[in-house]
Amino acid sequence: MKKLLLTLLITVMVLSPTYIAFAGVGVSINNAPVQFSEQSGSPFIDQANRTQVPFRQTMETFGCKVNWDNVARMAIAEKDGIKVEVPIGRDYIIKNGRQLYNDTAALIKDGRTYLPIRAVLEAFGSEVSWDNNSQTVVALASPTAIDEAMTIHFIDVGQGDSIFIDYAEFEILVDAGPKSAGSTVVNYINPYVDGNLDVVVATHEHADHIGGFPAVLNAYTADRIIDNGRTLDTKAYSEYIAAVQAHNAEYITSKDAQNYSFFIGDDASYRIIQMSGDYTDPNNNSLISLLSYGDVQVLLMGDAEESIEKANLDKFSQVEILKAGHHGAKGSSTTEFLNVIKPETVIVSAAMGNIYKLPHFSAMQRFSEIRAMTYGTFNSGPIIVTTNGSSYNINTSNVITVADAGDNAGSLTQSEVKYIGNSNTKKYHLPACTAVDKISIKNLVYFNALPQEYDACKLCNPI
Ligand SMILES: [Zn+2]
Ligand SMILES: [Zn+2]
Repeated sequence: MKKLLLTLLITVMVLSPTYIAFAGVGVSINNAPVQFSEQSGSPFIDQANRTQVPFRQTMETFGCKVNWDNVARMAIAEKDGIKVEVPIGRDYIIKNGRQLYNDTAALIKDGRTYLPIRAVLEAFGSEVSWDNNSQTVVALASPTAIDEAMTIHFIDVGQGDSIFIDYAEFEILVDAGPKSAGSTVVNYINPYVDGNLDVVVATHEHADHIGGFPAVLNAYTADRIIDNGRTLDTKAYSEYIAAVQAHNAEYITSKDAQNYSFFIGDDASYRIIQMSGDYTDPNNNSLISLLSYGDVQVLLMGDAEESIEKANLDKFSQVEILKAGHHGAKGSSTTEFLNVIKPETVIVSAAMGNIYKLPHFSAMQRFSEIRAMTYGTFNSGPIIVTTNGSSYNINTSNVITVADAGDNAGSLTQSEVKYIGNSNTKKYHLPACTAVDKISIKNLVYFNALPQEYDACKLCNPI
């Protein structure tokens, strides 16, 4: 029956193009029929059994700005930051620069552009169906599928990194902060973890990234653990690897996993851009990954610096959000790199008044040069990005500027910090003392002069 109808339609088409307008194929957008006229042309069904509709009339009704590129011979529709290009006679369309395969092509008939409506409307996030009774293509501009929210949490772990991604029942934890933040991470992610923790990623072997994992792996069952396979002769690393080995998870660690990627739900994926480099500096062997949900891309750089940015330059493209490499250090986020990824938003994970004076002035300056909105966990606490795949929100409006660089020890500037105390034990230390790293974030206090009510640390012997 369908075949017969198709044959009839094609016959009608060939015999009398003007009759097709009355062949009964309609288009409805948000429950209102699109009005076609002799001037706009009318929908018809092509040889691949796809409904071809007049481009301009349909996409303008859908709310798009419509253009025609005479040189590239392509129709262009734009709406809400989405740009779809439809080349004539090609088996693909282009959404925001990315080619999407299509099983039929746009064509020109009687001087008008017609296009396969389903692929193009779907590229705009529309839900498209076919109503056989009324022979109508039904498009809903605000679909439900893409409305599902993904949240990305840049947890405040003090000096370190821990990023938690939650999308429906799928959860990924990238780094777990220093050991002192282990319980912070465990408690923070608790309301979001459904059953097992799906994927755990350790970017590199430094304590401020893996120190919290033993606590996390003790509290949750991880299905998959991914790290760059490198080792380090430190207590933090040996505790980390012991926890990993005691865990019955799929362990992905080979360099072959470069480009390893997986879907985490509808239109959402996580991809490893670089598993590990061959550098002496562990920071530059950081695992780099890209989280992608619809049109929103989040690039997680670990502690990567300039050499790794340059070595991988051809693998990067434009992203919406950058987790700045190495806590906003001087040697990270070079201009060359930023010009490729062009982030709208930059997130710096660092502690208030950290002894490394991060984020560094020069990195903050580069973020400001590209007019990125920059946020710091030291300033905002946990930073939460919520996205539906087309736009995103951030839970804070506390933008950081160059003035916050290396200058984030409460009311003191970094250079004014002479001693760091523990409000719990009432001991104070020199900023470089190893004991400072073990102080819980909430107990850190900063002094520019000898604190009267505190005892001197016996390790670093501050005078
Ligand atoms: Zn780090
Ligand atoms: Zn590091």
